[in-house]
Amino acid sequence: MRPTVVPFAFVAWVLVMLQPCAARAAACCLEAAVHTAAPFDEGRAEAVEVAAPPAAAAPAPTPLDLSSEDVADRPSYTDVFSVLKQENECSRFFGGPRLAVTVFNQFTRQLRPRRLGSGAIALAMTGEYTNYQDMTTGASYRLFEEASLNSEGPFRSKKEAARMRVGSFPAESRQGRALMLLHELGHLIRGKDGRWLLPNDGGDAALSESNTKEVESRCRTELLALDN
Ligand SMILES: [Zn+2]
Repeated sequence: MRPTVVPFAFVAWVLVMLQPCAARAAACCLEAAVHTAAPFDEGRAEAVEVAAPPAAAAPAPTPLDLSSEDVADRPSYTDVFSVLKQENECSRFFGGPRLAVTVFNQFTRQLRPRRLGSGAIALAMTGEYTNYQDMTTGASYRLFEEASLNSEGPFRSKKEAARMRVGSFPAESRQGRALMLLHELGHLIRGKDGRWLLPNDGGDAALSESNTKEVESRCRTELLALDN
C-alpha cells in the first residue's frame, strides 16, 4: 500500500544533526552541541502541491532490495530493519512495524554519504520537509530534502567513533549505529498526540542526549539482541 501524500509542504527550515556522545565523553558532547534545528511554525506553513515520493512504501514490513538499492550503510540498515520488522516495544514506539519500516526505508533511500567534517556529527537531515500520511495506519511522517551520513564522522571514521558513545553504547558498535539511525527516525514520525516522537533538539545537546536515551529505553532489549 502506498502512503498517501499530504498535499502540502512546510516552508520551515530545519537542520538536525545527531550528536553521538554521552556521559563518558562530556567534553565531546559540549563541543558537539551542533544538533541544531531551527524552530518551525506549522501554523504558518504554506500549502503547495507536491508530487508523490519516488520511494513509495512496499506493503508490510518489507526490506529494501540490497542487491539493487543504493544503501549508505547496509549492515546498520539490516540491523535496524531486523529490529523494526517485528512487534516489540521498539517498533511500537515508532508506530508499529509497518509504519516504522515504511519510514525507515524512505529515510534510508535518501541517506547518502557526505563529507561533513570530523567531529561528532554522524548524521544530518537538512532542508525543507514534506509531510506524508500512511494510508493504512493513518499516521503521518515527514522527510527532509536531504539526509546525510557523515563520511568523516563517527559513523564511518573509527578514529572518531572510538572516543564517542551513543546512549550507553560505543559509537562504533552495532548498537550505537543502530541507535543513531533510530534517533533520526524519531524525528520523522508523528505520534498520536500530534507531536513528533522526538522533539527537535537543535542546539540543545542535553535534549539530544535525552532523546537518545528515550529511544534507547524503548529499544534497548532489541539492540542488545543484535549481537546474538
Ligand atoms: Zn535529534
